[in-house]
Amino acid sequence: MTAKIARFLEEVQPATPCLVVDLDVVRQNYEDIRHWLPVAEVFYAVKANPAPEIVALLTGLGSNFDVASPGEIDLCLAAGAAPERISFGNTIKKQRDIAYAHAKGVSLFAFDSEAELEKLAESAPGARVFCRILMTCDGAEWPLSRKFGCEVDMARDLLVRARELGLDPYGISFHVGSQQTDLSQWDIAVGKTAMLFTELAASGIELRMINLGGGLPTKYRTDIPGMDRYADAIMHAMTKHFGNNLPTMIIEPGRSMVGNSGVLEAEVVLISRKSYDEDVRWVYLDVGKFGGLAETMDEAIKYRIETPYENDETGPVALAGPTCDSADILYEKCGYRMPLSLKVGDKVRILSTGAYTSSYSAVNFNGFAPLRTYFV
Ligand SMILES: *Cc1c(COP(=O)(O)O)cnc(C)c1O
Repeated sequence: MTAKIARFLEEVQPATPCLVVDLDVVRQNYEDIRHWLPVAEVFYAVKANPAPEIVALLTGLGSNFDVASPGEIDLCLAAGAAPERISFGNTIKKQRDIAYAHAKGVSLFAFDSEAELEKLAESAPGARVFCRILMTCDGAEWPLSRKFGCEVDMARDLLVRARELGLDPYGISFHVGSQQTDLSQWDIAVGKTAMLFTELAASGIELRMINLGGGLPTKYRTDIPGMDRYADAIMHAMTKHFGNNLPTMIIEPGRSMVGNSGVLEAEVVLISRKSYDEDVRWVYLDVGKFGGLAETMDEAIKYRIETPYENDETGPVALAGPTCDSADILYEKCGYRMPLSLKVGDKVRILSTGAYTSSYSAVNFNGFAPLRTYFV
């Protein structure tokens, strides 16, 4: 909680639930990653928080952008980002969306399949393309599974095919899984990438770029290693596998760019018990899975929650949202406790909610308005 956010909540007393984002924190996060990883080009993953205020700030600071749709392209262009600063990083694109991006001047595209390459060759001829490889996402609190990427032997063949189709085989990308706290994951990924660089050189293809994806964490309930440790791990892996012949490096922070910039204020709507002999209290908030806390799915992301009674005795709670959908439970099994003095009508503050909240909020499910965001 920054002083600016605390003052805003105090003075304005906004209706809850609402998210308050401190743009100075976003600026600091951008400067930190530039400081610790000066050789990498930063492409902000827009989906983490697509607020025009954030995209405009990052444009001014010199950031590039990783986008997934024409809507996100328009957002970045409207904020003043030149098309050369945009990477269409989604491996699943409609033909007409590729054509749209190409017409707007975007010339960098991801793929992980032959069918996607054919679409790219047709609608973005000559574009720079990079192949996403599969990662296991071990150690990530929000893994990305097998939906994206292909195995390295397929990646090799596809990059050869890219050249045959008149595209520019530019490099390799991966994502080690979001909220990744196992620093060794980058070494595995960079090693696979370097192997592909070597194998493709034998086919006369000189790859020039490695896209290190996202995965850098933000602090939730447990501590995380600092940005310096991530930078060390990444640079160590790069020099180990590439020597001093480093390719262009791209990094795509989403969560780590905006996560700790936001605080979500919510109100306690109801506190109840399910039986006379259970001591678990059910605490229902006016925000839940559909109001922006979708990453509590399977209790994956464990937010820190502050109440007005930080020093009081606590007891076990289950936390849930206000909608009439039984999936709308935030935490039931992972040991949350709250002060026994907590009562209906109290405000609670959910910390580090700047990433993957407002962009996940439903438009009007059950008649609840989408998550309102304020910028300070
Ligand atoms: C979502 C996404 C990111 C951002 O990941 P974080 O773990 O939030 O940093 C980066 N790259 C791509 C391609 C993504 O889809």
